[in-house]
Order: sequence, then structure tokens, then C-alpha cells
Amino acid sequence: MQLYELTIHELRKLLDTGETTAVEVTESIYNRIKKVEPKVAAYLSLAEERAMEEAHGWDKQGFGDRTKPLAGVPLAVKDVICTRGIRTSCGSKILANFVPPYDATVVLRLKEAGCILLGKTNMDEFAMGSSNENSAFGPTRNPWNVKYIPGGSSGGSAAAVAADECIGAVGSDTGGSIRQPASHCGVVGFKPTYGRVSRYGLVAFASSLDQIGPITKDVRDAALLLQAIAGYDQNDSTSVPRDVPNYAQNLLEGLKGVTFGIPREYFIEGLDPEVERAVQNGIRTLEGLGAKSVEVTLPHTEYGVAAYYIIAPAEASSNLARYDGVKYGHRNREGKTLMEMYRRSRSQGFGAEVKRRIMLGTYVLSAGYYDAYYKKALQVRTLIRRDFLKVFEQCQVLVAPVAPTAAFPLGEKVNDPLQMYLSDVFTLPASLAGIPGISIPCGFTSAGLPIGLQIMAPHFEEGLALRVAYNLEQNTDFHHHRPPLDS
Ligand code: GLN
Repeated sequence: MQLYELTIHELRKLLDTGETTAVEVTESIYNRIKKVEPKVAAYLSLAEERAMEEAHGWDKQGFGDRTKPLAGVPLAVKDVICTRGIRTSCGSKILANFVPPYDATVVLRLKEAGCILLGKTNMDEFAMGSSNENSAFGPTRNPWNVKYIPGGSSGGSAAAVAADECIGAVGSDTGGSIRQPASHCGVVGFKPTYGRVSRYGLVAFASSLDQIGPITKDVRDAALLLQAIAGYDQNDSTSVPRDVPNYAQNLLEGLKGVTFGIPREYFIEGLDPEVERAVQNGIRTLEGLGAKSVEVTLPHTEYGVAAYYIIAPAEASSNLARYDGVKYGHRNREGKTLMEMYRRSRSQGFGAEVKRRIMLGTYVLSAGYYDAYYKKALQVRTLIRRDFLKVFEQCQVLVAPVAPTAAFPLGEKVNDPLQMYLSDVFTLPASLAGIPGISIPCGFTSAGLPIGLQIMAPHFEEGLALRVAYNLEQNTDFHHHRPPLDS
């Protein structure tokens, strides 16, 4: 086994016993990056010099400090999360040269836990997209087949984990951007409850939905990373002052007494039969482990896409107003008037999808349309949330597909935004309701592309989602498969 293939928990053991060093593992990963990046393109920036320095620091200091559970662990961070002194572009030309003067809370917490920051991963511009093709710097490719999309918007993070270009990563999820790329790349992706993790320093897309979470090689690692980043932060008033349980300890409990719901609306026409079969196999495995299943209904699911694609663009149109060529980012210097400068800076700086969202958002918020679109969408959001609250009286978690199909070929949906939006149908509802959702590998298509299974849990029941995921994972071996990148 190569050092770059290790999980967080495996690496921590080897560091503790002195069987490897932080320098060895960090070097091994940068060599791996050099080898596979020409094919995968998962990173937008690397921080090699700094990372090697930190690795030396850890080797000198040693790994005995129990308050540093991630000591010496090299991780990647999505480029929408601010890193002090390291460019944070959000996959956009408008922020191509933006170097934040501060670290996001999540980055600070990861550093406090001892992690080594390898670099920043590629993404759809401002996290708008499901395929990574909206990155201003070119798409990341799926390590399982480089002619396919890795998913989005955290496609760079998911591909980096799958291709062993980091030990683990963090991404952000507004409507599926952690779970869907994790599913397409055959790794674990966990969107926590809205409010569980601080958004301070996460560049805002849709503030009532955005949430940061781990993308990892297995469920135990997801628990470890979440542990490091979760919890109240006085810099984010939407983070919730609630105790964070010990997630890793939680995993080991079995599934006896657990009832999971199978929502009818997630097994509909349009769901690829291979995906359905893999998810059904996962369901059978859970039943075999002593969990009980019930069929349930979430009747407003079908309105999720419409509601999301009103609410998210509305918030985006407001959040993105700050990129005006004055306060941040790219400025066009040819404009003769202030308005002209704004217009030119924004037309040059933003890509097509971002512009589409700004227009959609501005439209649905404008006088005369606000009630018909934005207000209606918020009402639908409440109904979707109520669906979940009601169903969680019948069962403790929900099991469903992550996406209707496995990864699709690059270019297939770029010119058809509606088709692209529809591919989010199974991830948007949990985002609108604010509940946690985890994606774990549950099979492969006949073409060898990974398939993910989604477990959703009630607000702040991350421990339960992780526990169910862990039990399923430990009784399957999909997380041990590696993409054929070396051949
Ligand atoms: N694909 C969805 C969108 O384009 C979700 C993106 C996300 O979660 N950041 O908005």
C-alpha cells in the first residue's frame, strides 16, 4: 500500500507508532498529485512549500498531543473556503487573484486539529453547478473515467479524494454539492445539518442553504473530520450552540432497533435501473443487519427542483452584488463612468451560469414577481420541511439514491441547464429542509462508474446518519475499490 492511499484513521495510527512521518506522507501525496493531475485536474492551487514546512514541524514536535486529532494529516479544501495567504478563486475569473486576509473558521479548526493544507480544489464557479464544467479554469475529470464529469460543485474535492491526491477534503453543499460529486467519484460525502458547521469564511452562494462538510475515503474519516469542524462559532450567527457528540464512538453501535424509511418519491421514472439496483442492494444489506424498513412518502418532493432554483438564485443575486470591481476582484479599467465600470467588470468576470442565476434571482425578487415566485418557493420549502418532520415520526433515517444516474459524459448537459438542474432532484430536498445527508458508495454501473446511496437524518442527528452509513459500509467493500488511474 502506498502512503497516499491511507485514510485519516490509518495514517494517524502510523504517525502515532512512528511507522511513517508527516514529511513522508506529504511528499508521497505531492508526487501522486504530479503524476495524476494532468488527467484529473482536481486542484486550482497547491501550497506545497508551506505544507512541507508544516509537515517538518509536526515530525519535530511529535504526535502525542491528544488535542490534535488530525496532526500531520494532509487535506484539501474547496476553493470557496477562505484560506489566509492562499488564493481563493471560487472557480471564478472575477476572484482569480483574490488572496484572503483571514482563514475561514473551518480552516482554523482544521489547523488547530493539526491538519496540513495541501491546496485548494476546483469547483463550479461560486458553487453553481452539478458537473464542474462551470469552473472558469476548466473542469475536473472523473478519476474513474476521465471522459466523465466528477459531479459538482465540489468535484475537485471529491476527485482529489478518489484519486488519492489527498487523505481527505472538505467541500460545501448548497443543494447537493458534497453528496453528488462524492457519489459520482465513489467516496463518502457528508452534508451536516444547516447550522452544525460555521459558514464564516465560506464565500456565500445561497446563505440559507450553504453548509460545509467532509469528503473522505470512508465513513470513519467523515466522522473524524466533522468532529474537527462542527460546533458553534461566534462569527456565524446561524451556527447553532449545541453540543457536538463523539461521532467516532457512535459508529460502533449496531442497527438493531433502527427503522429506516424508503421514500417512494425517490424511486421514480427517470431513475437509472443500475442505480436503483445498487441502492436496493444497500437496502437489503441494511435489513440483513437488523434494521427495519418502511415505505414512506414525502409528497412535495417533486416541487424541490423548482423551489430550489428560485430560492438559491434569489440569494445568489444578492450575495454576488458585492463583486463590483471596487470592493473585490477583477476590475475593468476602460469604462468611462462608474456604471460602465461595474457593467464591464461583472460581464467579464462572471461566467454564463453565474449570470443566468443573477438574472433569475433578480427577476424572482423584483416587484410584481416576488409574491408569485419567491414567496411561493418559500412556502413550498416549508411544505418540504414538514414532509421530513412528519416522516421522521415513522422512521429514524431515510435511505435513497443520491442522483438519478451515475456520472454523465463531459459536455452532455452543458447546453441544457434544465437537464443539469434536474440531476439534483434527490439532493435538493434535504438542503431545503436543512437536514443532514450522507452519500456512501453502494455499487458500480456496468461501465465501471461508482453509484452512491444517500442516508438522510433528522436535524442534528449526524451521529445516526454516520452510524447507519458505517454499518452499511463495513458490510460491503465498495470503498476499497480504486479508480484505474495508473493503467
Ligand atoms: N447543483 C446545485 C446548483 O447548481 C447545487 C450546488 C451546490 O450545492 N453548491 O445550485
